[in-house]
Amino acid sequence: MEITFLGTGGGRFSTIYQRRKTGGIRFVDEKNNIHIDPGPGALLLSHRFDLNPLDINTVILTHAHPDHYNDIEVLIEAMTRGGTNKSGNFLSCESGLRKVGNFGPVVSEYHRDLTSRNVLLEEGNEIALKGNIEVSPKKVRHSDPSTHGLVIKTEEGRIGYTSDTSFFEGMRKKFEGSRLLVLNVTRPRDSSIKGHLSTEDAVKLVNEIEPEVVVLTHFGFKMLDKGPKKEAEFIEEKTDIKSIAAEDGMKIKFNEDINLRGITKPITRY
Ligand SMILES: [Zn+2]
Ligand SMILES: [Zn+2]
Repeated sequence: MEITFLGTGGGRFSTIYQRRKTGGIRFVDEKNNIHIDPGPGALLLSHRFDLNPLDINTVILTHAHPDHYNDIEVLIEAMTRGGTNKSGNFLSCESGLRKVGNFGPVVSEYHRDLTSRNVLLEEGNEIALKGNIEVSPKKVRHSDPSTHGLVIKTEEGRIGYTSDTSFFEGMRKKFEGSRLLVLNVTRPRDSSIKGHLSTEDAVKLVNEIEPEVVVLTHFGFKMLDKGPKKEAEFIEEKTDIKSIAAEDGMKIKFNEDINLRGITKPITRY
């Protein structure tokens, strides 16, 4: 499995200013091409990083905030060859499919009808993809009440992705066993905010879950001012677990080993 970060920004202002990009994360193996949380720029950044949008066969939406859903309809059009070929999976939080409180539905009925399978992300609903990959949705705590994190089960082990969430008791149980843990750490030390993880929360989680590698992403303005690298170093110091602050375009090879492939094409920051 190769994982590409098509952006590492998150929250309203990182997104509006594009201080870091917000294109989501692509997971590619021999049989699957999965795009998770395609925020603004996902289409452009797919081209920029040579990840053909026509190759996508699964789109996953974890919640109804624009830094996660903005480009989703155009990626569904790519996945279905402009809607001419009913194909692909759309795995969605409830607010992607229908109204949940003040959220959603963020994907039109027209686009939902283009795919061959729409599946609701619900805890306990294990979703099988090609090649023995299984997606296990995990309910987390964010302003969209239907927000779900994910555990992606592969033959080489589990990858956990928290999506946006407050820290809460019981998170360990949901993400335990993850070899690679991708955390949306929007806030740095001494700056926590409801609905998002901070560096202190990340230390607690990493100590509880003990993955092999932890990757931080989804950086807000305060995090970028403080320096995600420094925050990752702090987490590593407190947990003794390899901790990396993701960069736009960073790739990770997830096999028996977990290897950083570096940044393919560094892109301009504003
Ligand atoms: Zn977000
Ligand atoms: Zn959010």
